Amino acid sequence: MSVTTAPQLKEVACDLCHSRENTDLYVLTDTLHHLPGKFTLRRCLQCGLIYLSPRPTAASLSDYYPPDYMPYRPPIEDERLGIMRYMRRRKLIKRRQLIEKYGGHNSGRVLDVGCATGLFLHEMQLAGWSAAGVEPVQSAANFARQRFGLEVFQGLLGEDPFAAQAFDVITFWDVLEHTFSPTNELKRAAHLLKPGGLVAINVPNWDSFDRRPYGPYWQGFDTPRHLYIFSRETLTTMLLQAGFRVLAWECFMPGFFTWILSVQRKLAAEHPRWVKPIMRVLTFPGVRLLFEPWFSFVNWRKTGPVISVFAQYIGQPSR
Ligand SMILES: [Zn+2]
Repeated sequence: MSVTTAPQLKEVACDLCHSRENTDLYVLTDTLHHLPGKFTLRRCLQCGLIYLSPRPTAASLSDYYPPDYMPYRPPIEDERLGIMRYMRRRKLIKRRQLIEKYGGHNSGRVLDVGCATGLFLHEMQLAGWSAAGVEPVQSAANFARQRFGLEVFQGLLGEDPFAAQAFDVITFWDVLEHTFSPTNELKRAAHLLKPGGLVAINVPNWDSFDRRPYGPYWQGFDTPRHLYIFSRETLTTMLLQAGFRVLAWECFMPGFFTWILSVQRKLAAEHPRWVKPIMRVLTFPGVRLLFEPWFSFVNWRKTGPVISVFAQYIGQPSR
């Protein structure tokens, strides 16, 4: 279903400290799918959390996830180009290696929240992990079950049937910024983790090199699908409140495809004639390799488009 009229919007308070005092940062629109609606991104004056308010209601939000929404991508084995298979698998292997590094073991039970079509969980399974997923989109959940034989609960975290302390690791890849209440997600994760268990999260990086030059067109905002934008400070506070201790921040995702989405959005608004030719060049097979040194550099400086945090569950919330 697509949106043709103005969406239902709702004003909300800060999810982290419940304050309603805030300052406006940007008025944003959907510059990816061009669906209607104007949304204000605000910063909480008490704790600094950046969030969308007003934002779509639960009933209207699904309209902003059309079927061609990018994360529902084909399995790696179905990529035609060998180099693409290699690059995509390398990203998943890197995620697994960092989990094994910070978790301190290379087997156990892992839950992936927002597992989409199950590509990451499939990689974990191949390496000997016991894997389960939570995914709200029916078609993606079915795909993960049928193609990879994965255990996937279709719905949201919090509605899930899992027992307390059932998991060694819980992952949120590109998910936390989409949720209505990240603090509730982390509380539920804490409940489902064994003592000492690991949570791995990645989010758009507020310190990304391309946030300032691309401004409202920055892919990290992806309005109105991203309801929160985290800085390292606000995400650390949120983790502490849920009983976690931050082990490390890592910037390891290849940022090229995230960056060209920002390029595409800015061109579409300012120089629409150039979108097709420039995107054709940037997406030509192999072109991304020319940019690899730059993206390695920005990742080394922790200013890539996406940042990850690894944190250990150490007990009760601090307050
Ligand atoms: Zn706040």
